[in-house]
Amino acid sequence: MGLFDAPEPVNVEVKGNILQCLVCRHQKFWRREAQLHTATATFFQMEWTNPTALCYVCDNCGYLHWFLPQ
Ligand SMILES: [Zn+2]
Repeated sequence: MGLFDAPEPVNVEVKGNILQCLVCRHQKFWRREAQLHTATATFFQMEWTNPTALCYVCDNCGYLHWFLPQ
């Protein structure tokens, strides 16, 4: 558990849309922030030194939805 982890699953809104699990359509997610490897950033053609992705793990089925900061 990191500093940024929410204590309980939350509803997530992305650009005005409620995030719904792609698999089970559940709407509660655990928020995680993940440090990407430099190799991953290169793959996405990014030039960040410490790229961080925002991850939402479905509370129901565990499917991982992740977002790159814009
Ligand atoms: Zn799910």
